[in-house]
Amino acid sequence: MLDLKSKKPLIIAGPCSAETVEQTLQTAEQLAASGKVDIFRAGVWKPRTKPGGFEGMGIPALPWLVEVKRRTSLPVAIEVANAKHVESALAFGIDMFWIGARTTSNPFSVQEIAEALRGSDIPVLVKNPMNADIELWNGAVERLAKCGIKQLGLIHRGFSGYGSSVYRNTPMWHLALEIKKRLPELPIFCDPSHICGNRDHLLEVSQQAADLNFNGIMVESHITPDAAWSDAKQQITPEQLVELLDSLIWRAEGSDSIAYQNSLDELRGVIDRLDDEILRLLSMRMEVAEGIGFIKRENNVMILQSTRWNQVVERILARSEELGLSKEFLNIILEAIHIESINKQKRIMQK
Ligand code: PEP
Ligand code: MN
Repeated sequence: MLDLKSKKPLIIAGPCSAETVEQTLQTAEQLAASGKVDIFRAGVWKPRTKPGGFEGMGIPALPWLVEVKRRTSLPVAIEVANAKHVESALAFGIDMFWIGARTTSNPFSVQEIAEALRGSDIPVLVKNPMNADIELWNGAVERLAKCGIKQLGLIHRGFSGYGSSVYRNTPMWHLALEIKKRLPELPIFCDPSHICGNRDHLLEVSQQAADLNFNGIMVESHITPDAAWSDAKQQITPEQLVELLDSLIWRAEGSDSIAYQNSLDELRGVIDRLDDEILRLLSMRMEVAEGIGFIKRENNVMILQSTRWNQVVERILARSEELGLSKEFLNIILEAIHIESINKQKRIMQK
């Protein structure tokens, strides 16, 4: 039986969709020949945003995956979205399932899948839901666990948003870290393909996952990516996948070296002292804001002074480069400070 924790990093790769028997087998054989792939993935049922797109080959593609297994010895994984998918895939001996982002968003579907899986010992990976809702992600895992699924894992594939971004689905790494904290026993894999939606940032996103101690990655790979029937823009050839895997650095979780420990301890001491200093200054700043609150109250002036606040922000953002701090970071910090100042002044006004 497939063991998700038997190897780290675990590499899952294969086309977005199983399109034809030739495309499936050729892709699988090239991936297997690289010796760098642990599990072969292929979508058989494809949930498409709009009707009319390629919705997967369905049951006729399942024997192709059986053939992949026979020829390459790679375990095979597919996406399941309802009880019928589970039943058909189990009958064909598929080795692993994942639950897609659209399905994780729907508790009825997850419950149905969980019940169809009761009594089987197949590993199941749960993709994050489309929206940035960690409870929904966690809830899907709980539904599966309650039905006795023992080998569970997570796939971080980013979160959809409105408008343009460099990513197809924003990674919001802090949510992946939060779910890791909540479910520390579960292996977590990154799906850079669906995060990126193109080939340009696959390495950067995969490296980020490696540096955040993910257990592996799931990457879409196709023998002729440009001709793919789904997700053509983000797929890479098996050759390009090897290149990506060779460039990725999976660093150690820690080191026993004394020199390493000593330098780390020293710098961490500096960080602790700086944190204390930052907090002391923040506390002083809030006291001054409270002083301003008293003056505003005496003079019957409202708390929010947008012109002044815009000046504060502008003055600080102009120093972004000189400080070596991104505007994005400065904006978050300033906003947090502003909210706390306003709350302090509000309390004074209400006294
Ligand atoms: C997929 O893995 O091909 C897929 C449909 O992914 P997601 O559910 O993350 O959109
Ligand atoms: Mn896809």
